Amino acid sequence: MIYVAGAGLSGLSAAVYLAAKGVPVQVMEAAPGAGGRCRSWFDEQLGITIDNGNHLILSGNSSAYKYLASIGAERNFAGPAEAEFAFHEIPSGKAWTVRPNEGLLPWWIFDRHRRVPDTQARDYVSFVPLIGSGARTAAALRKRDDVLWRRMLRPVLLATLNSEPEEAAPQLIAAILLGTLGRGGRACRPRIALPNLSAAFIDPALRVISGHGGTVHFGKRLLRLGVGHGKISELEFLERRQPLERGDAVILAVPAWAAKSLVPGIAAPTDHRAIVSTHFAVAPPQRAAVMTGIIDGTAEWIFCFPDRISVTISNADRLLDIDRNEIAKLCWEDVVRSLDIAPDMPPWQVIKERRATFAATPEQEKNRSGPVTAWPNLFVAGDWTATGLPATIEGAIRSGRRAARLARRHHDA
Ligand SMILES: Cc1cc2nc3c(=O)[nH]c(=O)nc-3n(C[C@H](O)[C@H](O)[C@H](O)COP(=O)(O)OP(=O)(O)OC[C@H]3O[C@@H](n4cnc5c(N)ncnc54)[C@H](O)[C@@H]3O)c2cc1C
Repeated sequence: MIYVAGAGLSGLSAAVYLAAKGVPVQVMEAAPGAGGRCRSWFDEQLGITIDNGNHLILSGNSSAYKYLASIGAERNFAGPAEAEFAFHEIPSGKAWTVRPNEGLLPWWIFDRHRRVPDTQARDYVSFVPLIGSGARTAAALRKRDDVLWRRMLRPVLLATLNSEPEEAAPQLIAAILLGTLGRGGRACRPRIALPNLSAAFIDPALRVISGHGGTVHFGKRLLRLGVGHGKISELEFLERRQPLERGDAVILAVPAWAAKSLVPGIAAPTDHRAIVSTHFAVAPPQRAAVMTGIIDGTAEWIFCFPDRISVTISNADRLLDIDRNEIAKLCWEDVVRSLDIAPDMPPWQVIKERRATFAATPEQEKNRSGPVTAWPNLFVAGDWTATGLPATIEGAIRSGRRAARLARRHHDA
């Protein structure tokens, strides 16, 4: 048996992989439902199902797409046929759409209808030496105050890192730029989950796991890992203990803070950043882009779903103590301006995810563990493990598969 603690995306991707290979698997989740930081629920106040926060994936997220294929959910997504990113600058009222061309050769930077207004092709070229230049990247970015940085690169990096790009680990910035624009527009088509995150990423996975004979238990918090004879010998839950047999393995797919309390001495990030999301129960205008980047507003990205408009603000610790009414009002002002809709404020909901992701700083990057632990039958997964990516769906899913492969090898040995 392989026991997976945590039914977030990393745990589910591990369990789906194992169940599909015919390996007996049991998932133990502390919460009453699955999804972790990528989940949905019916909001009584709004009368619609909302997500804990807007989640974007890109067409080039290969681990995410492999996972979606394995649960039959690739079609549960919306987005433009080609890579395009709409922006709206609040102070000037200017709007534009960045359209990277499909192939690897980035000729779009020479086309003023495809690039950011008031930029030149040489501005883009001047960024290339910064990518992958290690420690120099953050320092070089810190000095930049140009239009391209402000109108495209900073908002994209801020959203992906959930940390100020100027303070971020250079290797994470390089991984983002090389994995997206560096692979051409074909890898950068934005995709959002429809009708919501649970329907797209979570519920189909639960069906696949149980369809292959696996089980998922909710309200089962792993409290302690018992050690005996140099390996994990027992799992302790509130109301029972689960002894492990020969060949059994454990995948810990819990957030960094939970891993640290269960595995003394494990390296894991300790500093986290918030994301604040505001959902408005109103249908967007038909012409609205699936997502719009907001420059110099309170809102940072506006997402349009058939039954709601949702605003994301990253690296949002500064908003944690701000009144929810105030946040909703400021976000709605930006929505009205950028989508050009009637100003009457619809019913809204503000969700503050305090520990949305680990801080993507060089210090926290050093704290990320690989999947292998000091115990031969214990493996770790999660967006905070050493994936080479910031805390993302792609990283979480990749880490789950990686831990599952190792656990299976242990199980089959
Ligand atoms: C608001 C928000 C917006 C985001 N936007 C994006 C985005 O646009 N694109 C993107 O790629 N990523 C985004 N992310 C990041 C993405 O959601 C995460 O990287 C991913 O969901 C993490 O999955 P995980 O399995 O590593 O961790 P989690 O989702 O945290 O799952 C861990 C699970 O373990 C459970 N657990 C904890 N302790 C125990 C225990 N002791 N025993 C059993 N179970 C336990 C938890 O309840 C949880 O279900 C966003 C995150 C947030 C919060």
